[in-house]
Amino acid sequence: MIPTPSGKKDISARIEQIRQRYGKDLVILAHHYQTDSIVSHVDFSGDSLELARRIPDISARHIVFCGVFFMAESACLLARPGQQVYLPDHKAGCRMANMARQNDVERILTVLKDSGRSVVPLAYVNSSLAVKAVVGRFGGAVCTSSNAVRMMEWALARADSVLFLPDQNLGMNTADLLGIPGSQQFLIDIAGKTLQSPEARSARILLWPGYCPTHALGMLPSHVQEFRRAHPGCRVLVHPECTPDVVDLVDGAGSTAYLIKETEKAALSGREKVLCIGTEYHLVNRLTKRFAGTIDVRPLVKATCPNMEKITLPKLLATLEGMEQGEGAVTVDESLKSPARQTLVRMLEHCKPAQAK
Ligand code: SF4
Repeated sequence: MIPTPSGKKDISARIEQIRQRYGKDLVILAHHYQTDSIVSHVDFSGDSLELARRIPDISARHIVFCGVFFMAESACLLARPGQQVYLPDHKAGCRMANMARQNDVERILTVLKDSGRSVVPLAYVNSSLAVKAVVGRFGGAVCTSSNAVRMMEWALARADSVLFLPDQNLGMNTADLLGIPGSQQFLIDIAGKTLQSPEARSARILLWPGYCPTHALGMLPSHVQEFRRAHPGCRVLVHPECTPDVVDLVDGAGSTAYLIKETEKAALSGREKVLCIGTEYHLVNRLTKRFAGTIDVRPLVKATCPNMEKITLPKLLATLEGMEQGEGAVTVDESLKSPARQTLVRMLEHCKPAQAK
């Protein structure tokens, strides 16, 4: 049920009271794609990489994660003993992550290994804990959209080929950036029927057939063309979960951190009047409001993520009120923790921010 404005005010006040009561013992984190009403109650918002980096430094007993399920699972992996991670709605899954199932990933990697191929799996962080565990056992790592290029180089330095999953578009866009020709990229089928084809055998990048419906189905070349017709000469930037035919048409593609930074730079320089951003709408709308009067930030389309929107103020409040009784608590299978954690640690180690001198 959507709360009335006065009900919303009441819920917000109760959330703030609980935050004050817990003080340093409670940290609330949110992904950039959360609604403004959620973001106004958090200690920190960021993209997947920024949030993952935060977890090891958090000492609070309770960590409430406003995002989707795989993000809360990753937080569990990086949390300290005695800390508890919560997600206000366990049905907030990632549709892309659900396109790669543990058994399928394990079967495909086993077939590849048994055929004598030298292959390292690289999983986008948008994957389940169980899939990360399989990837960890096969010597792989995870990556985010911020560091996909560095991590694909990492993987290619270890094997002749990489199985990139689950996002075919991030995989193709990253391989393109590394100059790997399309003839060396191969979209596999989950049944594995084409794995032994000459094209698959000679490919350096094997791509899992997953995608993000919000970016890949919601943002089309025709949207870019329409924007360009309406705003000649204005820049268009998109997230690399968009399809390569969209990325080919725009002026830049990068993670949410990149999109935010580019908007900040454009606002500061004052050289651009209009900037178009193609990613989840709540983030773009926040940028529009933040830079109103400086630069006109337009969404490519108003595409939202229905699962991110499952996290609402009433659910956040219910989690905060029920934490001591385990409301919203996320637990992960102990046997999966170690191999899954390895994939995150490999990424965090390889992509450590440069130390200040
Ligand atoms: S926007 Fe796409 S990738 Fe992100 S959580 Fe939603 S479905 Fe998953």
